[in-house]
Amino acid sequence: MKFKNIAKLVVALTLFGNPLRGQEVRQEQTEGEVTYESAVENPKLRPVYVSDIFKKINVPPYVKKIEYDPDPNSDPKNTAIMQNNVSTVFRGDHLDRADSQISIMPLIFSKDPRANRVHSDAEFKFVLINHEFKHAELYNNEGRPIIQDCVFNGILDTKLFKILSELEAKNNEALMLWEVNEKGLVRKLQNEELSRDYAISTLNASVEEHDILRAYAEETENPKIDELVEKYNLPHYRFRKK
Ligand SMILES: [Zn+2]
Repeated sequence: MKFKNIAKLVVALTLFGNPLRGQEVRQEQTEGEVTYESAVENPKLRPVYVSDIFKKINVPPYVKKIEYDPDPNSDPKNTAIMQNNVSTVFRGDHLDRADSQISIMPLIFSKDPRANRVHSDAEFKFVLINHEFKHAELYNNEGRPIIQDCVFNGILDTKLFKILSELEAKNNEALMLWEVNEKGLVRKLQNEELSRDYAISTLNASVEEHDILRAYAEETENPKIDELVEKYNLPHYRFRKK
């Protein structure tokens, strides 16, 4: 017991004498892991919470970095909770294979349900795995069908590529949570860790992205984009339109 108390004192002195760094923040939090809830309450714990992700989940080899971006003022219009800072290179009709660097934005720790749909560790990991890693997979696979879909007359339509890649990531996330069967639209994963609010807002986000594709089809005169609207027409989207 005495030895432990001395150890605590040493940690306290270290914290007092130095600006907070990751390792010291971890000691302040005791030996346990940093939870999502504690990272919500204490912004100093967020870099540690995010860097611990590599120990908790399987990160694909083409995701080189996942880090907390603490600057909420970098772009006031940015409503992203996570973003992929991949530097893609378009070469005429294709996309060069690229590794991903994912930034975790402060908004993902916000308690405001209108600004942020994630409110637990399980939801945090769910977005990272089913949405952000989907983008990363796409950027790593040169010549995937989605890229072929965006090439017209040998030129890549980068606006369409942005829309389709966002649609694909959002659909991937939503279709893990929902399916359409004879009863209608039904939640697939019903557990306490993934809330109903999260499931609904994720579905809405994917439907909104589909609306963006539909609007782009109307804006452009390229008939091929209408074909893509049909191709990416999801079961839940059809369900809503009935
Ligand atoms: Zn996305």
